Amino acid sequence: AISIKGLSKWYGDFKVLEAIDLNIDNGEKVVICGPSGSGKSTLIRCVNGLEEHQEGQIEVEGKVLEKDIKSISKVRAEVGMVFQHFNLFPHLSILDNCTLAPLTLRNVSRQEAEETAMHFLEKVKIPDQAHKFPSQLSGGQQQRVAIARSLCMKPKIMLFDEPTSALDPEMIKEVLDTMVELAEEGMTMICVTHEMGFAREVADRVIFMDSGKVVEMNTPENFFSNPEHPRTKLFLSQIL
Ligand code: ATP
Ligand code: MG
Repeated sequence: AISIKGLSKWYGDFKVLEAIDLNIDNGEKVVICGPSGSGKSTLIRCVNGLEEHQEGQIEVEGKVLEKDIKSISKVRAEVGMVFQHFNLFPHLSILDNCTLAPLTLRNVSRQEAEETAMHFLEKVKIPDQAHKFPSQLSGGQQQRVAIARSLCMKPKIMLFDEPTSALDPEMIKEVLDTMVELAEEGMTMICVTHEMGFAREVADRVIFMDSGKVVEMNTPENFFSNPEHPRTKLFLSQIL
C-alpha cells in the first residue's frame, strides 16, 4: 500500500508537484495520465525515492520514506519500476540482467537467483532468450525482460512509466498483456500510460494530472464516459 499526503516538490522556483494526496491499497491498480510536463514521472519517481520531495509524506508498505539512504533502500526493496526506455544493462546477458540485483542486494545463491530469473522470464514468455544480450532482442522483448528483472526482486508494488510509448505498435500488445497478467495476479500497480484500453480493462482508478496537480480521480467508467473537469475533457478529446 502507498499513502501520499500533501506531497509538494520544486525544481528551483518551479513547483512541479502541488499538494498531492493519494492512497493506494494493496492490490489496487491506478493509471495516471495527463499532458507532457504535468508531473506524472516526477510523482512516481518520488514514490521510490528516485526524486526528493520537499513537503508532505510518502509511506510505502507502512514505512515512511525519509531522505537517508537506509530508508530509501528499505522502500525501494518493496517497489519495482519499469521505464519507457527499458534501461537494461547492455553488457550483461538477459539472465545476468535478472540476477544482478538479487545477487548483490539480497542474500541469495546464484542457483536460486537463476531459478527465480528463469521463472519470471517464463512468465513474460521469453525463457529462450536468457543467454542473449539486450541488443539482440526486439523492443517488446526488452521491455518484458525489464518487467521480469523487476519481478526478480519480489516487489510488492510495481511502478510503470509509459512502458509502451517507445515501442512499435505491434509490440505494444505483448507488453500490455504481461502487465494485465500481473494485474490479475493481484500486484499493486501505478501505471503512467496513455493506453486507455489498458486503463479501462485494468484500472480501479484513473488519475488525470495537469500542472503538478491531481485534477481528476475517478473510476475508468466515469473517467471516460463522464469526465468532470474541462481539462480532462479536452485531454481525452485529443487522445481518444
Ligand atoms: P511526459 O508526459 O513528457 O513524460 P511528465 O508528466 O512525466 O511528462 P515530468 O517529467 O514529471 O512530466 O516533468 C514535470 C515538469 O518538471 C516538467 O515541466 C519538466 O520540465 C520539469 N522537470 C523534470 N525534471 C526536471 C529536472 N531535473 N530539473 C528541472 N525541471 C525538471
Ligand atoms: Mg514522464
